[in-house]
Amino acid sequence: MMQVLSVASEAYPLVKTGGLGDVVGALPGALSGHGIMVTTLLPGYPAVRAHIGDAPLVHHYPNLMGAEARILASYINGFPLLVLDAPALFQRDGGPYGDRSGADWPDNWRRFAALGRAGADLASGAIPNWRFDLLHAHDWHAGLAPAYLSYAPGPGAAAPSLMTIHNIAFQGRFDISIFPFLGLPPRAYTIDGVEYYNGVGFLKAGLASAQAITAVSPGYAREIREPAFGMGMEGLIRTRGGAVSGILNGIDPKIWNPQSDAALAARYDSHNLAMRRTNKRAIESGFGLTQGDGPLFTVISRLSWQKGMDVLAEQLDTLVALGGRLALLGTGDRPLEAKFRAAAGRHPGRIAVALGYDEKLSHLLQGGADAILIPSRFEPCGLTQLYGLAYGCVPVAARTGGLGDTIIDANEAALAQGVATGILFDGVSNESLANALQRTVSLYARRDAWSKMQVQGMAADFSWHQSGARYAELYTRLVQGRADLKT
Ligand code: ADP
Repeated sequence: MMQVLSVASEAYPLVKTGGLGDVVGALPGALSGHGIMVTTLLPGYPAVRAHIGDAPLVHHYPNLMGAEARILASYINGFPLLVLDAPALFQRDGGPYGDRSGADWPDNWRRFAALGRAGADLASGAIPNWRFDLLHAHDWHAGLAPAYLSYAPGPGAAAPSLMTIHNIAFQGRFDISIFPFLGLPPRAYTIDGVEYYNGVGFLKAGLASAQAITAVSPGYAREIREPAFGMGMEGLIRTRGGAVSGILNGIDPKIWNPQSDAALAARYDSHNLAMRRTNKRAIESGFGLTQGDGPLFTVISRLSWQKGMDVLAEQLDTLVALGGRLALLGTGDRPLEAKFRAAAGRHPGRIAVALGYDEKLSHLLQGGADAILIPSRFEPCGLTQLYGLAYGCVPVAARTGGLGDTIIDANEAALAQGVATGILFDGVSNESLANALQRTVSLYARRDAWSKMQVQGMAADFSWHQSGARYAELYTRLVQGRADLKT
């Protein structure tokens, strides 16, 4: 059986700040049917340590990037889990990347260099009794793992590596002064290695060193070749050419299925959509919204520039004027939180916000709201539109990255042919968003067309079925040493 080591900073349900966690958590299950065993390596954050309890020791590092560390073996979702337990680096109050105030930990380079080193050691046979056929690194937190494999492997044969970009905006870029502490040879500090704009780039290192690169949608894989989306990496992405491909994220039907979702007030399928009304009432009463004829919109999002939340905040008066209501769940930039709070104050009963992170509430919102707004300026894959599709909560989204790959816009042709699943708009501006809101409200009034759209979205298969097969093919090619063959 092929053994893959998946190295990441997040994996649902132990650590999740966004889609990365969902995807890393789902990957082992997605690949198990293909005869591939995925072992996940995670940092020993407090929640991870609490989950594993007294786990067997795999390896002891007296000094890993200046900290004592151990690798411990356990399980996540029934699949093997390795935990890099380094209390000085990971046992902290706050989030995975920063303290409670939101400020990044100043030693993030050291924390994630340690993760990369441990990943590379496991994947190069440096740790007795452990071997892997392939290393799969996710995002910048794991970006040094392929670089260590390439420049400073352990004593065994280094496994090939795959670098997946979940979001190229997060790059792990640090001052050049950290380089001597990374334990990489001087020749790694080049444009083909870890050097990035006169500093060290962790994601850059992974993209330059891995045998293959995937982005989390075909659309995003194309977009990051351009400066507007590549954010400084576009040249490298182009240089890597055929080694770069896009594989859509899937959703886990055990967690996201309206027929069995315990977080819903009422469960349903596409044959009894009327049951959604019970969930809608639960949202209305929970959020203090009045009932109304217009659509109930939801937002479940990080409140950030990437997500276009600044533009949405400016269009809330429009949304209300059109007869819509909004239940928003999100956290993020403080000024944006204040804007949404102010809009809720201006429009009591019409706009309500829950500023926080609430997994359970996110399910209820998908199960009861009519439409989910996703005005992202860029969206590598996006999961909330996939959950929306599965739950009959129609996505209203910007045509970018994975949003454009997964939603079929309700233009008249698509409506006539019965294939529309959502509403897409081009470019994130006050005008385009206002227009999309207007289109949504009009379509919502055409009840038959609307419910057809819901049913079509629910029938779309975005489970891991297809994407798991794509990863399995790519893994197999990499292990057989044929990485450079274009997909
Ligand atoms: P990103 O990873 O860029 O934040 P995705 O759409 O890929 O965006 O994934 C976001 C994930 O986080 C989804 O599972 C979504 O439901 C969840 N999420 C985002 N904000 C919240 C929140 N405030 N409460 C609960 N879940 C949230």
